[in-house]
Amino acid sequence: MKMLKRLENIKYAIRDLDVGVPKGTIKLNIGDPLIFDFKIPKNIENEMKKAISNGYNFYAPSEGVKELREKIAKKEQCKPEDIIVTAGTSEAVNFLFASLVEHGTQILLPSPCYPQYPSLVKLWGGTPIFYDCDENWQPNIHDIKKKIKQSKSWTGNKMKAIVIINPNNPTGVVYDESILREICDIAYENDMIVISDEIYCDLVFGKQFVPTSSVARGPVVTLNGVSKCYLAPGWRIGWMTLQNFKDDILKESILKLCRLRLCANTPAQYAMVKALEDKRHMDKIKAELIARRDFMMKKFEELKSDGININCVKPDGAFYAFPYIEDKKGKWKSDLDMVLKIRDNAHVLVVHGSGFDYHSSPDKKYFRMVFLPPEKILNEAIDRIRNYIKSV
Ligand code: PLP
Repeated sequence: MKMLKRLENIKYAIRDLDVGVPKGTIKLNIGDPLIFDFKIPKNIENEMKKAISNGYNFYAPSEGVKELREKIAKKEQCKPEDIIVTAGTSEAVNFLFASLVEHGTQILLPSPCYPQYPSLVKLWGGTPIFYDCDENWQPNIHDIKKKIKQSKSWTGNKMKAIVIINPNNPTGVVYDESILREICDIAYENDMIVISDEIYCDLVFGKQFVPTSSVARGPVVTLNGVSKCYLAPGWRIGWMTLQNFKDDILKESILKLCRLRLCANTPAQYAMVKALEDKRHMDKIKAELIARRDFMMKKFEELKSDGININCVKPDGAFYAFPYIEDKKGKWKSDLDMVLKIRDNAHVLVVHGSGFDYHSSPDKKYFRMVFLPPEKILNEAIDRIRNYIKSV
């Protein structure tokens, strides 16, 4: 009976997850269907081919192959034993919350937030609590302190961790060192773990990226992987590092889950042993992304001179922008209504702000725009958005 009830709970948790696919179809009708033209570098692709021909097709150790953990340790400035290799960062987040979150556990997340975090907190029975960011999308320290204080007085000690996503999805903002330091200090003083998602760490434009672990006094989990900076999202290789923990309880629990799923992709792990240190491709990608970001920002300015009040904090990392369109007249019922109408009328896909747990006043309709596509496509996409908005 007890077991049945537990199963039911899991079913409800899954049913409640907001990971649906919107109804309707998207027809872009422009150029090549492969609109993101960045391809995995040839040398990295060749490492994968070599790994397969060299016979690295067996089950690897569940925590990851030794050689790769040693290379990651150099990158993350920690010991190889601190590292667990996973099937993408997503699996690391899942294992982390599966181990950390019990019924009622609270996890402090940024708003806006990459949606996987609140979904997985909920899946494991916990409650996401969101902290605000300021007008430049830097975490609001005052609000973080307030949320921790409230949690303590209302629930006792149920808030276990604070999540940082830096550079950020969906805002593209890179966090200041002073803010990271303050968050780490607050977490330390309140006996909380810092979870730092740094999957876009090498995609930073003209600003200094500071790894959270370099300023953390207390326990910190760093999440990273090859999906973004090595252009290999389908390889499903990520990792987490667990540093400054007093004991191995959390690590042991995560390792049990790793053993349960056997291992992460073996040839991809061997391929990354060489590829991880090879960053020859980064300069070109960054230069291209900077050009595309600047082009997108210029187009937004054009929209303004066309009477559309669009505002956007200039992203200094990743490949996302999080603008809003002023909607004083209430043309759209919600931000979701706006992006669905953009989709159906302009055939351009952007994601509504509330999809990232960001809820603003109704006169500002936020959305996330990806500036990965080449200028030609960005140009056409933004023109189509403008033409649709001017028609309503
Ligand atoms: N973390 C962030 C902030 C992301 O934006 C994404 C993907 O968009 C992921 C994690 C997923 O990473 P992976 O492909 O390594 O599972």
